[in-house]
Amino acid sequence: MERTREPTLEDRLGDIRSRISDAAAEAHRDPSSITTVVVTKFHSASLVRDLHALGVRDVGESRHQEASAKHAELTDLDLRWHFVGQLQSKKARQVLEYARVIHSLDRTSLVDALVRSAPGSSDDGGGGGLPDESGSATVAEVFIQINLSADRSRGGVAEADLDGLVENVIAHPLLRLAGVMAVAPLDEEPRRAFARLRIASDRVAAAAPGALAISAGMSGDFREAILEGATHLRIGSAITGNRVAPG
Ligand SMILES: *Cc1c(COP(=O)(O)O)cnc(C)c1O
Repeated sequence: MERTREPTLEDRLGDIRSRISDAAAEAHRDPSSITTVVVTKFHSASLVRDLHALGVRDVGESRHQEASAKHAELTDLDLRWHFVGQLQSKKARQVLEYARVIHSLDRTSLVDALVRSAPGSSDDGGGGGLPDESGSATVAEVFIQINLSADRSRGGVAEADLDGLVENVIAHPLLRLAGVMAVAPLDEEPRRAFARLRIASDRVAAAAPGALAISAGMSGDFREAILEGATHLRIGSAITGNRVAPG
C-alpha cells in the first residue's frame, strides 16, 4: 500500500536510530558507545513526554527559561537534561537546578559561576550539603565548547585558548570534565571541522585523563561527527520535526 501519512515522531526517531547504527558500523564503532541527546528546544513538554515513552532519556535545551518550564512539568520522568546553548554566568545557578550536563562551557568566568553555584560553596544560599572528600558532590558534568570557526562572535573558546581553560576546569573537583563540544562552522566541510575537533579532544584528554567525550553532530552532520569519533550527538529537528502549530 502506498504510504500517505506523515512520518510520526516514532518513525523519525527510528529512522535516526538506524542511521546512527549505520554510521557507527561504517566507523567500526559500537553504537552503544554513542549517546543521542534529543534537542527539544521550541517544542512542548508533551513532545518530551512522548520521546520519553519511546525510550529517550537524554534531552537537550538551549534556553534557560524554556528549559526550566519544561523540566518543571516533567519532574515525574527519569530524564537527564543537557544544556547545550550559550549560558550567561548569572543564569548558571538556575540552570544547575535541572541540568546535569553543560555542553557549552567556554570561558573561565562561567567556570567560576558554576563552581559558586555548588551546594556548600561559600556563597551558596544554604540548604546544600558540603561536598564530601571523595568529591562525589559533582555539580555538573561539563563539555568545553570549542569555536571551530574564525568568527569570534560564535560560541566556544578559541582553539588557542583551550589549554588554559582546561587547566581551569580541572582545578575544580566539583566539575567533571567530560570532554569537548563543537558546532560545525557554516563555511567548512563538517567532516574536516570534526577532524580538527578530534585533534583538540586528544589534547584535552592528555591534560585531563578521562575527558574523552566528544559532543558533536546535529541533524545535518551526525554521520560525519560519528566518523570523527563523536560520543554525544545533539539532534533536534530530524527527530522532533519542525515546530508546527497544534491541531
Ligand atoms: C538546536 C541545536 C542542536 C540541534 O540542531 P538540529 O539541527 O535541529 O539537529 C544542536 N546543538 C545546539 C547547540 C543547538 O542549539
